[in-house]
Amino acid sequence: MTNEPPPRRTISVRTRLLSVTGVVAVASLLIWHSQLADLLDLNPAADKQPVVGGSGPGGTAPPAVELSVKATPQPVKMPPPSKKPTKPTPKPTKSAQVSYDESSDEGLTPRLRSRLKKATAAAKADGVAISITSGRRSVAKQQKLLREAIERYGSYKAATRWVLPPEYSAHVKGMAVDIGPQAAMVWLNQNGWRYGICRRYDNEPWHFEALTTPGRRCPARESHAVAKAD
Ligand SMILES: [Zn+2]
Repeated sequence: MTNEPPPRRTISVRTRLLSVTGVVAVASLLIWHSQLADLLDLNPAADKQPVVGGSGPGGTAPPAVELSVKATPQPVKMPPPSKKPTKPTPKPTKSAQVSYDESSDEGLTPRLRSRLKKATAAAKADGVAISITSGRRSVAKQQKLLREAIERYGSYKAATRWVLPPEYSAHVKGMAVDIGPQAAMVWLNQNGWRYGICRRYDNEPWHFEALTTPGRRCPARESHAVAKAD
């Protein structure tokens, strides 16, 4: 028989339990109070905390630490370089992109250019100056001329007797020249065949193309331009 009294231990355990319970209770109270204070907006620190709850479902709420430590500048994260190749912008056609010095032989086909050079030299020897008034044209320029011609002549059909749409125009291809002045038109109409250059239309005494083999007769003239493929 032992006389060891269990009550002492019990008391001691009870005391411990009580004190632990007390600590837990106090802690719970403190936590509860702080939560209550937050809820009631009594905690002054709560004012400084930005509301994070507002972020949408897709939004990532930044950590509170980062938000409160405003003095420390965060390194700026550069977006990673895009591996997706930039979509290439469609290149306009060369004729639409490049504009030529229309009053020169710039952009003319080598054939017309060299023939015209020889003819111009021969005309000069005869005392006649040939000057180009309109050579190679851009698509944009030809479209502009056509728009103006439609206004002037009242219809597309009438306009295209004088100005062809870009897709049919020999000027846009660098295969035609308009020249001046009057004396030059007359000279080239008479002598152009020697150099392979011919007047093409009855209604345009200024318009010439390389239509024959040098030294051969020019083909019969057309009364006017027609908007169709050659
Ligand atoms: Zn012309």
